[in-house]
Amino acid sequence: MRPLPGERGEWIDGFLFVANRPILDFLNTRPILADGPKELLPDVAALERWLIASGMANSAGIRGLLRSWRNSAEAAAFLRELIAFRERLRDAVLRIESGSAPAESFIREVNAKLLQYPSQTSLRRQGGRLVREKMFNARRPADFWAPIAEAAADLLADTDPSRIRKCESCVVHFFDTSKKGSRRWCSMNICGNKIKVAAYQRRKRDQQS
Ligand SMILES: [Zn+2]
Repeated sequence: MRPLPGERGEWIDGFLFVANRPILDFLNTRPILADGPKELLPDVAALERWLIASGMANSAGIRGLLRSWRNSAEAAAFLRELIAFRERLRDAVLRIESGSAPAESFIREVNAKLLQYPSQTSLRRQGGRLVREKMFNARRPADFWAPIAEAAADLLADTDPSRIRKCESCVVHFFDTSKKGSRRWCSMNICGNKIKVAAYQRRKRDQQS
């Protein structure tokens, strides 16, 4: 799980972005490394960096607001709530991966956040086509529930559950967008090669014995 050279694009500013769904990337901010679980969002400064890296802080205005919250107790309280939400989200994702439905209480929680922190949608030109862009009104730290709840709703309602999976070799979760639906690892660079090398060495050992 340590970044290796050549993994540009998977790691942004120390965070892993391999999940194809922003809410799963958020879930992956607490990976378990060789020496135990690692909290990648230990403080408000780290959260600020993650919100920028993930694209949720998608305007200069919002990034400016984030900077002004660095020493705010309100932002620290928001982070604590967000971390607790992340663990309830983990439970929901583990349930989906095992073929069952997320808990009713979790769906109610996401619904409450969607109602309390609504997003607006606008259309923007990107290349030759139009894309839908979500916007939200950020005045206080808790307003960041808007993109988080949107991303959670996207996972629960618009993402094929059979393609939500955990890496076979580590704790990273992802949405498999491969053509065949046969993705097994968080990343070829991080776990895929590790497994392939281990399998190769095992075969070689077996041949020699
Ligand atoms: Zn992995």
